[in-house]
Amino acid sequence: MTILVLGGAGYIGSHTVYELIDKGEDVVVIDNLLTGYKEAVHPKARFYKGDIRDREFLDSVFEKEKIDSVIHFAASSLVGESMEKPLKYYDNNLCGTKILLDAMVAHGIDKIVFSSTAATYGEPERIPILETDKTEPTNTYGETKLSMEKMFKWVGKAHGIRYVSLRYFNACGAHKSGEIGEAHNPETHLLSIILQVPNGQRDAVSIYGDDYDTKDGTCVRDYIHVTDLATAHILAVRYLEFGNESNIFNLGNGVGFTVKEVIECARKVTGHPIPAKISPRRAGDPARLIASSEKAKNILGWRPEYTDMEAIISSAWKWHKSHPQGFKTCK
Ligand code: UDP
Repeated sequence: MTILVLGGAGYIGSHTVYELIDKGEDVVVIDNLLTGYKEAVHPKARFYKGDIRDREFLDSVFEKEKIDSVIHFAASSLVGESMEKPLKYYDNNLCGTKILLDAMVAHGIDKIVFSSTAATYGEPERIPILETDKTEPTNTYGETKLSMEKMFKWVGKAHGIRYVSLRYFNACGAHKSGEIGEAHNPETHLLSIILQVPNGQRDAVSIYGDDYDTKDGTCVRDYIHVTDLATAHILAVRYLEFGNESNIFNLGNGVGFTVKEVIECARKVTGHPIPAKISPRRAGDPARLIASSEKAKNILGWRPEYTDMEAIISSAWKWHKSHPQGFKTCK
């Protein structure tokens, strides 16, 4: 049985490939390397460089490899950029998925697990957020992910494809080996930005707003380790292999940390004072996002291992300290 990982050179994709290989799975990776890195692809995975919007390329891989299930990470995922370049997001995320589904139907591949996001909810109506809560995205990124979920639903009904959509909260941390980790250019995610300070790449962290209605005025997020996300994808593939119906799951730790708490914990882990300054709010940031992941725990049997913020930050720090410039081929 071969599992195809689309976007397997990216942050969460590469960690999922490492976990799959660790479990003895046969893995094929497709990535266009626009934001991913060839070095992040596990050496035991068979790698094909190409774009999911290229139907001929997809057909050629599907003809060569006997793919049983697909895990789909190949998407654009920056909230800010999605507001400035919405059509890029519709093209890559929605048109790309349409072409992928066409190819899956043509080649009789009927199982797909894909990355969705907490951004599908928009401003939450309650905390913790349940999968059944209203979905009203406040940015193009979340909107395209929600539309992808709907595309899978209707195409699945017509063509017998079953899917699992995994709505991640704040992915962070790095592989325990310290060999792969987060490497975006520019970095936009909080923890990677914080760790640029002790790494000598930034003088201070900007805290986007300290006047929210939270315990210290800064935004609260649910931080979840990338390896725990990877494990959930594998459980989701198994769930589909066992013949279960299409489903949607939140993935988070169910615990909220403020921006100030994350910075304080990073000071403890790194031993660096990490100066921070208060900046204006960032547009579109909800005050609090915390997941209920009870459904994933009950149905998939998911048990996140990194429930401690210090352990999450330590794993990220191990990666960033040993790879201050990210991967050698960093753009
Ligand atoms: N944040 C911040 N300074 C930064 C980057 C992020 O204060 O340099 C805050 C951001 O406003 C949000 C939280 O950190 O409240 C997490 O942001 P991130 O971009 O990592 O993830 P998001 O929650 O937007 O998916």
